[in-house]
Amino acid sequence: MSTNLMRGYGMVSPEKPGWLEKERPACGPLDAILRPTLVAPCTSDTHVMHGGAGYKKNLILGHEAIGEVVEVGPLVTRFKPGDVVVVPCSTPDWMAPNIQLGKSNAHDYDLMTSFKFLTFKDGVFAELFHVNQADANLALLPPDVSPEAALMTVDMMSTGFHGVELADIGFGDKVCVIGIGPVGLMAVAGAAIRGAGQIIAIGTRPNCVKIAKEYGATDIVSYKEGDIVQQVIALTGGGADKVIIAGGNQETFGQAVAMTRAMGTIANINFFDLKDTLSMPAWHWGLGMSNKDIRCGFCPGGAVRIQRLMELIRHGRVDPGKLITHRFHGFDQIDEAFHLMDRKDPDLIKPVIYID
Ligand code: NDP
Ligand code: ZN
Repeated sequence: MSTNLMRGYGMVSPEKPGWLEKERPACGPLDAILRPTLVAPCTSDTHVMHGGAGYKKNLILGHEAIGEVVEVGPLVTRFKPGDVVVVPCSTPDWMAPNIQLGKSNAHDYDLMTSFKFLTFKDGVFAELFHVNQADANLALLPPDVSPEAALMTVDMMSTGFHGVELADIGFGDKVCVIGIGPVGLMAVAGAAIRGAGQIIAIGTRPNCVKIAKEYGATDIVSYKEGDIVQQVIALTGGGADKVIIAGGNQETFGQAVAMTRAMGTIANINFFDLKDTLSMPAWHWGLGMSNKDIRCGFCPGGAVRIQRLMELIRHGRVDPGKLITHRFHGFDQIDEAFHLMDRKDPDLIKPVIYID
């Protein structure tokens, strides 16, 4: 193998994940090249495998990593080789127009352009990976935050908490979180920190139900046992103030609107599928007169966001490390962990892989 080539795990061709050999990434003047030390697969990686976000080929997967800096560009001032850093899944180009307007998601008119890994750039399941604008997009791993907890901030906590931000949860709100995989569990924790009153969590995996209660869920509803709309309306006495969608299928959108009271807010952080159609009877939206606010979003990125999320860990306000149920060791184990994430075994919440 030439020294300019490296191994990575990703989409060889549509629906076919496997090992790839690719060019080692080049470092621009503001950028960094990292060696991953701890990584995790995400449900979104498996969505890509199944073509839910369009088919990809010859693309390295992975967008959740702690890494060691191997090389920095000549204009990078905050980092040097050997530093251990936390890498947000979303790494905006901070000079782009929408980013300057405070919209951390899209650079211009195309959606999710700040989410480079997984959409158009090789990801972190590689011997080396590239991060643009390192000074603005990387955070040093604080000595008092475990790498596992820090890894859960880069996507799970950032996304779950974004659901809470979109829903604008306030003191005493009656909140429903639909889906309590790792993303929804973080939304439950964020809702509790934001002062929600009632927090109804919808899901069935026993591990997830247990952690949902530990993070602050006051009620658990199973979507496998009866209509969730009726159950949430009954439990809240008329409808939730705020509903966060963090799982489910194309029916879930209409259910979320139906279980929200008039003047309430629906916040979606679930990744729907290209083949999905989202629809609902107009009366669920009060024939357009209900002032039910429907919002959606991909998580913000950048160093400051991740540093602030890690402050919550440092001061004991939340422990996202609880999400980790499976630990693998060695680069070659990415394959096994990825397939575990796809199968969603009943005892799984989140697997991590130490690249040691
Ligand atoms: P999981 O698959 O681990 O969790 C999904 C949850 O939804 C589970 O609790 C599951 O229940 C529940 N669920 C499944 N079917 C239904 C249904 N019909 N009605 C109600 N609940 C249901 O996913 P993740 O937590 O890893 O991710 C959640 C979503 O967030 C994914 O779509 C992912 O792609 C997306 N995502 C979005 C990001 C963003 O920034 N917007 C970033 C990262 C992820 P059960 O307990 O039975 O399994
Ligand atoms: Zn993700």
